[in-house]
Amino acid sequence: MKEYRGKSVFEGIAIGRLKIVRHAEKNMTIRCGTPEEEKAKFFAAREKAAAELRRLYTSARTTLGEEGAEIFNMHAVMTEDGDLEESVLAGIEKGESAARAVEEAGFALSQNFIRMEDEYMKARAVDAIDVADRISDYILGKTDAPIDLQEPVILASSDFTPSEVVRLDKDKVLGFVTAFGSENSHTAILARTLALPSVVNTRDSIDVDFDGGLCVVDGFSGRVIVGPDAETLADYEAKKRETDEAGLRRRALIHEVSATSDGKKLPIFCNVGSTEDVKRALAEGCEGIGLFRSEFLYLESDDFPDEQRQYEEYSRAAKLLDGKPLIVRTMDIGADKQAPYFSLPPEENPALGLRSVRICLKRPEILHTQLRAVYRASADGNVSAMIPMIVSLKEVRRVREMAAKVRRELKSERVPFDERMQIGIMIETPAAALIADELAEEADFFSVGSNDLIQYTLAADRQNPELEEIADPHHKAVLRLIRRAAECAHAAGKWVGVCGELARDPELTEFFLACGVDELSVSPPYVLPLREKIRALSAKSADADRFTR
Ligand code: PEP
Ligand code: MG
Repeated sequence: MKEYRGKSVFEGIAIGRLKIVRHAEKNMTIRCGTPEEEKAKFFAAREKAAAELRRLYTSARTTLGEEGAEIFNMHAVMTEDGDLEESVLAGIEKGESAARAVEEAGFALSQNFIRMEDEYMKARAVDAIDVADRISDYILGKTDAPIDLQEPVILASSDFTPSEVVRLDKDKVLGFVTAFGSENSHTAILARTLALPSVVNTRDSIDVDFDGGLCVVDGFSGRVIVGPDAETLADYEAKKRETDEAGLRRRALIHEVSATSDGKKLPIFCNVGSTEDVKRALAEGCEGIGLFRSEFLYLESDDFPDEQRQYEEYSRAAKLLDGKPLIVRTMDIGADKQAPYFSLPPEENPALGLRSVRICLKRPEILHTQLRAVYRASADGNVSAMIPMIVSLKEVRRVREMAAKVRRELKSERVPFDERMQIGIMIETPAAALIADELAEEADFFSVGSNDLIQYTLAADRQNPELEEIADPHHKAVLRLIRRAAECAHAAGKWVGVCGELARDPELTEFFLACGVDELSVSPPYVLPLREKIRALSAKSADADRFTR
């Protein structure tokens, strides 16, 4: 028996077999063809990698200047390296797959660099590895092979990327354990959506000897126990039964309204990443979807999802909701949610970089397609669109102009849609909260994205577990900004929701009530606990000053 400790991201007990995912191996699960086929794969992938690097070089010249961009040029040249090619072809002749041969040739080339005297040349070792990775990514279709799950397991790894998590067979996951990652990472958010007891940032990777063995995840204390002894296992089995029973008792609230003891309604919506999640949210008694993270549709695809594909997804969700609101957040790609086919230039500070609406306004065809899909889905239910990462009035106006153009197009094509479909914005930057009075004139509603609002207000990277104390969600600066956004929305006759993780914090429910927040949107497993909390509070005695003074 061995114990690891980390940060719990969802309270509950999971007991099951452990599956350790090692990323380096995962990529290589590809069929190996004849040497001719493998060589053809290599040459095609090399060409694509070189073209991508040349594109990166051109765009980096504008953003980083000639010196900063040179690395991409150098990598493009390195793809053509004679030694690299020779050893790839030799590897393939020996029976290796193209991907494996490239990885090995990259490693061999890096070793040649390391042995050089010159410090500059020594440092090129990492470039050789990087170039080989880029080529092998293309050989493997530029996507990570989905993690293959045969039976329900507890998944452990150093960390999981959002695109890996979206491709998982969710019915076969009992919980997550990661050595890195923070409470606000998208893996953690997904664990909460799926109600999976999970622990992140154990720092220590789980010993591979425990792969396939029994494991307990204690999402209450953040403990992970591998190879539990009989007594520990029996204790946890009893605790799991108890937790399951408390959950069952709460289910009595499933058809009750979310209102305080003095009758003030505060509807509870859900945050979801897919139509499958919508079903889970409805099963938990949600009153709408306050945040449909549409970027997951982009993360699961190998190329931009087209209008029809998107329309089908949003429409399916809208129909399932049967008149309950569906708020589709336009894609929030960038920062920690990367889709390779966007070919975004590497950035020094991705969280402060080209993400979500910023990409959409630079490459309007992406937003145009998405808005057409959302508008079309508005004919099939109670649908709204919501724009993330807003910092200025100009951005909102440009999105609205594009929305007007889409409406004109659909009208002339005689495609049905809801002409009054609302377009709201997220308040997730201090700038947006501070100019909320002006933004409220242009937006139909606000939704506070507290995860990013905390990160940008307190200058604390949401992915960095070391900063969890600094990223204090109850910080007065954060709460004052939320209060301001709510006041500005109401002054302009608009409504305001909260869809970040803060919405589920029972210590802040009174604050949200006092601010007159009109809707809280949480991961599905939190609907019933939050409903229980709201029903125990009185709106009249709720006091916001207590939180912001
Ligand atoms: C937020 O920032 O609070 C939010 C809801 O958006 P995301 O977590 O997807 O960035
Ligand atoms: Mg956000």
